[in-house]
Amino acid sequence: MSDHYVKVKVQLEEIQFPGEETEKDVEVVAGLELSVSSSSSSSAAAATSVAQDGKSRNDSGRKPISKTRSKSRGKPSDPGRRSRSKSAKDDTQGVASVNLQEKMENTACTAERLQNPSSNEAALEIKGSGKVLQGKAEQSKGQHGKEDGSKVQRKKRSVTVDSSKAKTSLEALKTSIKQLKWKEFPAGRRLPCDIYWHGVSFHDNENIFSGQVNKFPGMMEMVRKINLSRAVRTMHELFPEEYNFYPRSWILPEEFQLFAAEVRMAKENDSSWKPTFIVKPDGGSQGDGIYLIKDPNDFRMLGSAHNKPAVIQEYIIKPLLIDKLKFDIRLYVLVKSLEPLEIYIAKEGLSRFCTEPYQEPSQKNLHHVFMHLTNYSLNVHSGNFIHSDSMNTGSKRTFSSILYRLSSKGIDIKKVWSDIISLVIKTVIALAPELKVYYQADIPTGKPGPTCFQILGFDILLMKNLKPVLLEVNANPSMRIEHEQEVAPGVFEYVPSAVDEEVKVGVIRDTLRLVDPAPRKATNNQLRLAGIASEMQEDISDAGSSDKSEQDSGVKENNLPSLCLKQVFPKYAKQFNYLRVIDRIAELFVRFLGVKGTMRLGPTGFRTFIRNCKLCNSNLSMASVDILYIDITRRWNGMGAEQRESGMCLQAFVEAFFYLAQRRFKSLPLHEQVTALADLCGAAKRRAALATCQPEGIHSVPTAPAPPHHFNCPAAASKSADYRFHRPVLPTIKGNCIENSAVN
Ligand code: ADP
Repeated sequence: MSDHYVKVKVQLEEIQFPGEETEKDVEVVAGLELSVSSSSSSSAAAATSVAQDGKSRNDSGRKPISKTRSKSRGKPSDPGRRSRSKSAKDDTQGVASVNLQEKMENTACTAERLQNPSSNEAALEIKGSGKVLQGKAEQSKGQHGKEDGSKVQRKKRSVTVDSSKAKTSLEALKTSIKQLKWKEFPAGRRLPCDIYWHGVSFHDNENIFSGQVNKFPGMMEMVRKINLSRAVRTMHELFPEEYNFYPRSWILPEEFQLFAAEVRMAKENDSSWKPTFIVKPDGGSQGDGIYLIKDPNDFRMLGSAHNKPAVIQEYIIKPLLIDKLKFDIRLYVLVKSLEPLEIYIAKEGLSRFCTEPYQEPSQKNLHHVFMHLTNYSLNVHSGNFIHSDSMNTGSKRTFSSILYRLSSKGIDIKKVWSDIISLVIKTVIALAPELKVYYQADIPTGKPGPTCFQILGFDILLMKNLKPVLLEVNANPSMRIEHEQEVAPGVFEYVPSAVDEEVKVGVIRDTLRLVDPAPRKATNNQLRLAGIASEMQEDISDAGSSDKSEQDSGVKENNLPSLCLKQVFPKYAKQFNYLRVIDRIAELFVRFLGVKGTMRLGPTGFRTFIRNCKLCNSNLSMASVDILYIDITRRWNGMGAEQRESGMCLQAFVEAFFYLAQRRFKSLPLHEQVTALADLCGAAKRRAALATCQPEGIHSVPTAPAPPHHFNCPAAASKSADYRFHRPVLPTIKGNCIENSAVN
């Protein structure tokens, strides 16, 4: 092991968030446990895995499948927020499906190729990236498995997985199920399964009343560009310093005038400012419909584009380049549970490269998509795209190979990694409140229903100054482990992609291990016996959070590698819980919804909220409460086609809550005003519960841990008291998120 690699490993293991002290914690923050594979490229890691697991891989070995390429690309068809549409923003859509059964029977083995790595480059090997030992295969053939050569184990019931809706993730899912020796039901099953794997959304199958589904209701809607921008913006309003990882964005069409006015003013103040903006259609994916502009007038000239929902965003003009190329990072994040919030990050990800050397945007190069957009789906069609079996060359590489490159240049990669972890946790915290509203509407408490988990794809850009910037979150990240190859003009084959397989199979397999229902049931029983309070639930999961996951998931007993997914929440709850203010507002919102299955608060519910929390006084009459309700609800419902339902949505309620908080606690910064009001409402709820000796309302989503009442966020800037309750929280050029041109 070279000194340099040892240094990289040590650096990563030392990553520490401010306030972290224990050795154990430090080990986990590092998350990315890199070790060295002495030679043969990082495919050595995969090769080892395959060599050890040759049998099962041979079973599922794949050979190229010929097909004619479909040019169509998927687009969400229905913008309705509560839509149960089967179409989705699946960045794997539009590719013709493949007969996987046939593939499995007839194909040559990827393993062979991986076992004979040709490259001699040194590379980083990610622990937990796929080494699977063979012992268990014999057990499944009827022989009793032996652990440590001694104890005879009781044969466990196989976990059952319904893969009938898996779509493009099917191949990686099959491989994962095989490695785990679980039972797959490719055509579904009459009896309930333990796990249902959906390719698009929670609603792919409406008849699930137990088990677990790999999608949350509402996730697809929440990560659409407009909703993500709104969710991050609300958090930015409360915590500007903490939420400065998202480019300044304006929502079209309603904020176009504001966008134009702000750009004009900023240019008047600083004539040297030459910004570029990127316009992204709301439901778009794979770079579809995206273009760059230099001036708001360029957008005006596009005429009809004006009225389509989209986000216009400041373009990051100085990205970090490798080999003169722009690239982005795709990280896989598992939201294992919303309540309590549990987040895992995959230690390995992908880096997708542009195929034309980068230049800062100018009128001349503005249309060069291969220079500015890192989407694989676009660049794969460039003549310069390089398919490589090596993990650290070519147009798609592993994330760890990028870190290695950076580290070899003396860059502090542990800082980069911990900044990325923070970005991920903060983003999920921004999305969680509304997801809980969806959740209670689709799976009401007390009714039989599945629980949910979901793998998200985070697209992150590193700026030249190494600051990570969130580009977008994908609810359906591509889990395809093959890529297309043109064998004759117009005829394409799917061939195994070593880089994709290395990363994606690990993510799916380890997600399954983490949601393995057997240990989960044990935990739930313990909780029931223990007395059921949600605070206690949090305590238990916190206490066991130190890789409890690995113990629970039967890692050891199956001789599987250590997990490639690392828990980051609640592991770092202490550092981030103070940000979960909107969660508390959402909890109130759900409490007063009244009707099961709804996501909109009626005027009576709003009045009840005001009355129960005793918010009316000489300064705020019930009549003005009614006006507040009508005014805010009308405005939110008038925004965009998707807000046509009647009643007050969560975002409108949050705005009303901010307004009430500002009236009541005038001199405090906004986040303190809002927290103070949430405390007040919480106290009213406790008083009411005590008075009636009733358990909490049937609708209350289990309580999120209340953020500490003191603020350990020294950097949170204070918010001026002139909050504009007649307008949604809007970005300003001054209150920017990312110091785009200044820093670089
Ligand atoms: P899509 O869902 O269509 O892929 P993205 O938001 O991911 O949309 O944008 C597509 C690509 O455009 C990204 O992969 C990235 O390369 C580039 N991009 C997006 N937003 C920005 C930005 N604000 N600054 C610089 N590049 C960006």
